[in-house]
Amino acid sequence: MEQVCSHYPEEERKRIMDAYAFAESAHDGALRKSGEPYIIHPVQTALIIAQMGLDSESVMAGLLHDTIEDTSATYEDIRKRMGESVAEMVDGVTRLGRIKYESKEEEQMEDLRKMFVAMAKDIRVILIKLADRLHNMRTIEFHNIQKQREISLETMEIYAPLAHRLGMTKIENELEDISLKILDPVGYAEIMDYLRGREDELTSFIDETSQNVKGRLDDAGIEAEIKHRVKHIYSIYRKMYGQNLNFSDIYDLCAIRVIVSSIPECYNVLGIIHDMYTPVFGRFKDYISTPKPNGYQSLHTVVIGTKGIPFEVQIRTREMDHSAEYGIAAHWKYKDNLKGKQKEETFAWLRQLIENQQDSEAEDFIKNIKVDLFAEDVYVFTPKGDVITLPQGATPIDFAYAIHSGVGNSMVGAKVNGRIVNIDYQLNSGEVVDIITSKTAGGPKRDWMKICKTGTARNKIKQWYKKERREENVQHGRQELERELRVNLLWDDYLQDDVRAELLKRMELSSEEDLYAAVGYGGTSVNRVIAKIREIQDRKKAETTEETVTIGQRQGTDSGVSVEGLDNCMIKFAKCCQPLPGDPIVGFVTRGSGVSVHRRECPNYIASIKKGDGDRWIKTVWNYGERNRFESSLKISAKSRVGALGDVVSVFANMKINVLELNARDNPDGLSNFYVTLEVRDLAQLDALMNRLMNNPSVAAVERRITGG
Ligand code: MN
Repeated sequence: MEQVCSHYPEEERKRIMDAYAFAESAHDGALRKSGEPYIIHPVQTALIIAQMGLDSESVMAGLLHDTIEDTSATYEDIRKRMGESVAEMVDGVTRLGRIKYESKEEEQMEDLRKMFVAMAKDIRVILIKLADRLHNMRTIEFHNIQKQREISLETMEIYAPLAHRLGMTKIENELEDISLKILDPVGYAEIMDYLRGREDELTSFIDETSQNVKGRLDDAGIEAEIKHRVKHIYSIYRKMYGQNLNFSDIYDLCAIRVIVSSIPECYNVLGIIHDMYTPVFGRFKDYISTPKPNGYQSLHTVVIGTKGIPFEVQIRTREMDHSAEYGIAAHWKYKDNLKGKQKEETFAWLRQLIENQQDSEAEDFIKNIKVDLFAEDVYVFTPKGDVITLPQGATPIDFAYAIHSGVGNSMVGAKVNGRIVNIDYQLNSGEVVDIITSKTAGGPKRDWMKICKTGTARNKIKQWYKKERREENVQHGRQELERELRVNLLWDDYLQDDVRAELLKRMELSSEEDLYAAVGYGGTSVNRVIAKIREIQDRKKAETTEETVTIGQRQGTDSGVSVEGLDNCMIKFAKCCQPLPGDPIVGFVTRGSGVSVHRRECPNYIASIKKGDGDRWIKTVWNYGERNRFESSLKISAKSRVGALGDVVSVFANMKINVLELNARDNPDGLSNFYVTLEVRDLAQLDALMNRLMNNPSVAAVERRITGG
């Protein structure tokens, strides 16, 4: 606490210590998984917040961040003692918890949505959350492996990219490296081993280089601070696996950073560096004149050093350097920056992003935010020269809606660098985009929602349909719903009055027409409707179990399945998708040779329904017990290395699973594929096997094979 307080003036320390006292008595007696007193976690979180340079209120909220969730303290208690804004922040980082959702995923989505909304109101909420997550990651070893993986995956998908977007490089790097160590221990160790092997060489190279640069700058009368570093593990990993590079292809394994006091000096230093070493063509970037969207500013260049070792040089001012490490949090360091227009602009994009998503369901909300917030960027220009930042893969539709919904809604075409392009054209950085609009345009096309990349565009198109096209939505939604429900064999269920009434009640819709309209404009996904109908069915089934059992027995055959309405017909299992007990299945009435059983997700089944052959498919359920060996084929991708195949085979042996056939193939991408056909009992056994395979360090991916189409 002394360290925390050292960042703040005397008069603020008293309130910080008061928050500490509150938190300590609230968590009194509670222990962390590590066995330490719980209070250590909020104190460490507060210390990270203080080091970011945030204000004392954030530190207080950091100390209290787990009290509402984990102790008997309430929002009111905190508001009375610490004031409204601290209480609001604590509430913002508190998970919803008390509300019960149908699935863990749904709950997680709702928690994240709540956090994003709170963050739009007060950006400090997310900074506290990041500090909390960072400390949890630093102490992650006290969870079991499964939990460690879940937490690391969420960190990699949400928190690290968020830190990146907020320009908080230091935290981003640490979050990524810890997550990587857990998610791919083999890949992590490979890079660590390589770096350790070259440690002496790289260290002496970088020391020598820094000294040479320092000497030349001294001669030129430029006062500079020089920092150096070896790239962080995850950024090496991303280049090796994402761009398929070798260690020798990674230019910026070593980097030196030159920090000077003014912008003109930055360019002077650049000139001197290029005079000393040969620059690598195409690797110079001027983020001082064109900052990254997260505000990052610096000059970057890659040059060839002694012994032909390439290295990166980053040149920036002291202020830029501070912002580069602490990002958005750096705004609190100098209180003047906090006020007025500048602050507004910094957060405007964030607020707008979240406002655009307000009406979506939690799942879409998070999916869209992930795309808009976290994808790599392309920078394109309006004809007037304004820069528009879009995620990679964005189309002219995204561009149009990024400018204004009016532009998107009246768009009839687009030009890129003066040439007409298709509407699904993928924009590249540096292109000038001109949207062609017309007053007589009929509004956005429905399939634009599938083509566009950003959640912002998709949402604005949805809004347009919601407002403008009720009748069309109803018609379109009814068609889509019927088609999808038929594919999933739920249409007959939907037609039952009691099921339909229950469904509408659960979805909080007042009429069938509202349901169709919602599906039509994309406000509700068909998958959600399907999930709800299944829930209703499951509940009904639970009430009538006895009856089902007797029917099952009567229809039982030695094949292990019962086909509705057909006793003792000939049963075959489809070769294309190899259904296993536990898989949702469906039967196909063949001409003259009985019923062939497919998995419901088999593409042959889906294609057949879409073609209009729905009436040849028949409801089929598992009724097994007698037959207990099924064939199943897997595709296993493993890292190409000695012993990988042995690792995989030993998993089969340990589980006493019989292997019928095995083929292996090496791929140029550094992975080997094993195609294996096995005998298993049911889906549960196959799932257990796939899980074990996934936990094997050699294995990168496992999937069930479906052939044909
Ligand atoms: Mn916490």
